[in-house]
Amino acid sequence: MDWKAVYGNFSDLPKSEQHSLFQAIKDTLFPEPKEDIANMVGEIREVRFSNGLACVHCGSVNNKRNGKYRSRQRYICKGCGKSFNDMTESPISGTHYPHKWLKYFQMMVDGVTLPKIAEELERCFEKEVVLCTDSATNYKAFAKQKGIPHEMINASKGIHVKKGVFHIKHVNSYHQRLKKWMERFNGVATKYMDNYLSWFRFLELHKQLNKNLRKRNMVLESCKKANFMTVGMFKTG
Ligand SMILES: [Zn+2]
Repeated sequence: MDWKAVYGNFSDLPKSEQHSLFQAIKDTLFPEPKEDIANMVGEIREVRFSNGLACVHCGSVNNKRNGKYRSRQRYICKGCGKSFNDMTESPISGTHYPHKWLKYFQMMVDGVTLPKIAEELERCFEKEVVLCTDSATNYKAFAKQKGIPHEMINASKGIHVKKGVFHIKHVNSYHQRLKKWMERFNGVATKYMDNYLSWFRFLELHKQLNKNLRKRNMVLESCKKANFMTVGMFKTG
């Protein structure tokens, strides 16, 4: 049997089956979507250098183009003399298989355990938090120790909401979802707890998006950490 014999029956299939077959053949022939990450380089660049192209080592904006390496534009910094490209100092720099990262990000969206990657991502998450708890006293000490604003809600005194937004119901339902999501890991080491919480928070923040967009956002966020503060801004600020 040659391919023409197989293809002969192709048009007998309903449209949706045709699409599925095409997808299956495509996945078999091109298992690694190498072009994906390359397509994202432009976007990553925009996110990282949204405040101007600044050296990823020292923050100086005094730099110039310095040829290409592996099809990536390189820059040299006149401030510190080091060179960098769009990916330097991002989690996907220095890897020979950048496209594999997309797979990892996909796994994270799907909830596969990869604490190492969560670790990489952790530093990108916003630090703006308010600790919202019930009235157990150990939270108070914790908030003080970490310097986090703290809203205590004393449900036993019939208080369920403070300032209109800090609602114990929200905390409890978030906790329920977190617990359910964490079940798959069968218990995690305390030292990785922050990573899992960051990871879950990312998924919660982006849960209205489809999986592809979540994966995309995760790549962008993780590469974003760059220098929002440039030397110039530092001097004028
Ligand atoms: Zn520099």
